[in-house]
Amino acid sequence: MSVKICEPKDYDISVPVLIIGAGATGLCAALAASSECTPLVLEADAVPFGSTGMSYGGICAAGSLLQKEAGVEDQPGWLYEDILAAARQQTDPALAELIAHESGPAMDWLTGDCGIELSLEKSWSGLGHRQPRMHAPASRSGEDLMSMLLNACEDRGVDVLCDARVITLMSDKEHRVHGVQYQRPDGEIEEVGCDSLVLATCGFGANHEMVAEHIPEIAEAEYYGHESNKGDGINWGLELGGVVEDMGSYQALGSLAKPHNLVIPHTLMIGGGVQVNLKGKRFEDELDNISGQALDILKQPEGVCYIVYDERLHQQAESTFADYRTAIEMKACKSADSLAALAELIKLPAATLESTVEQVEQLKHDNQSCEFGRVFSTELKLAPPYYAIKVGAALFHTQGGLVIDNQARVVDQEGNALPNLFAGGGAARSVSGPGIWGYLPAIGLCTAVTLGKLAGSAAAKLTGENV
Ligand SMILES: Cc1cc2nc3c(=O)[nH]c(=O)nc-3n(C[C@H](O)[C@H](O)[C@H](O)COP(=O)(O)OP(=O)(O)OC[C@H]3O[C@@H](n4cnc5c(N)ncnc54)[C@H](O)[C@@H]3O)c2cc1C
Repeated sequence: MSVKICEPKDYDISVPVLIIGAGATGLCAALAASSECTPLVLEADAVPFGSTGMSYGGICAAGSLLQKEAGVEDQPGWLYEDILAAARQQTDPALAELIAHESGPAMDWLTGDCGIELSLEKSWSGLGHRQPRMHAPASRSGEDLMSMLLNACEDRGVDVLCDARVITLMSDKEHRVHGVQYQRPDGEIEEVGCDSLVLATCGFGANHEMVAEHIPEIAEAEYYGHESNKGDGINWGLELGGVVEDMGSYQALGSLAKPHNLVIPHTLMIGGGVQVNLKGKRFEDELDNISGQALDILKQPEGVCYIVYDERLHQQAESTFADYRTAIEMKACKSADSLAALAELIKLPAATLESTVEQVEQLKHDNQSCEFGRVFSTELKLAPPYYAIKVGAALFHTQGGLVIDNQARVVDQEGNALPNLFAGGGAARSVSGPGIWGYLPAIGLCTAVTLGKLAGSAAAKLTGENV
């Protein structure tokens, strides 16, 4: 992966806006650009999927029409404050403001102009969001979000060329990109010219060397994100004079069903469930810093734990989350009429599990907080039959990346925009601060959609004579 400095030439095929990567960022950039021109998306994989396809498809946004219809009052200023609070004030306030203020309009554009069918998830609140803000497909499946985005691209005549892994960018001496080379599965190399380029290649989670360099604490954990996301866009941006920030920022999660590798919804804990280790003991506040839980779980015996919950939470998750339904089909969820029987089923010490749950239920009864700081309340009481599911930790996606301006243009050390290079989603610096703890749920797709839209619109304005 490199940048070749050479004079612009007459390419056989040239497009006004070229987008690398067909995840949420790339497809939203393409949809936005398609109002002005016909963009081209190059995608490394045979079928576009990306981390977007692996996700719940949950996108946070403030002040959207869907929130208004659901009677949820929200404001961009509140999302801004929540972003800064989650990142402990250690993120770029200008970027946080941009994301907070553009997220609502981007959501209305997505559900309105682009016809993407989403609904507001009301059971997913808290965890840093003061209001319900997660907009998602009815199935709560990123695969469905990808299908809808691809259909919208098809309707607008956007070409998405798959099996096209971009390997080289061609730029003049002023860092103006004028074309790229991409490789086909048979090894053949082809070229396409462009007026402007959007990097939508996500982060570097699948690049073990980069993970070991920037976030060694999670380097030995499993990576459960998209395998093509090797940091190509970030490295090209750097070669072209861009700068990166917050490269130690990432989202991990401690709720990957084991050994089935399915993401188990946090609603099981929000609604009153708890996590216990193989000794039957709790070890953290299940609702604080859900990304950071990964490191806590990795320290537990065998690096796993069980979520213990009940029939009410089981039914709620079953009716809402596609991955959870798959977990049921795969018999990942164990259940029993008593805690002792459940403990026997999952081979945990029964007396300890019973005592742990008894203590938690007492805290709920008394509306008290536990030794880890979690506040319990009466309505979260568990009742038989009880359930348990084994989960482990993994790195999901990285949050550091290229620094951009308010039009998603990649900027250099002095803050000046590069001539025609844009970035969004996982390829750009996010608003999660420098570490594991600042990730606000559903901000990954929020930045993908919001910055993808901004990048596509601005890139389309740079075509032809305006380049
Ligand atoms: C299991 C899981 C669950 C998640 N759940 C949520 C959620 O519910 N809400 C949320 O906000 N976030 C969630 N996230 C994070 C979210 O998925 C990402 O933040 C978001 O998908 C990033 O979008 P993207 O378009 O930047 O990247 P992607 O969707 O990963 O797209 C990048 C694309 O670029 C392609 N590509 C890479 N390099 C090249 C190259 N050299 N040439 C051509 N193509 C290339 C890749 O193949 C890929 O298709 C989750 C992540 C995971 C892993």
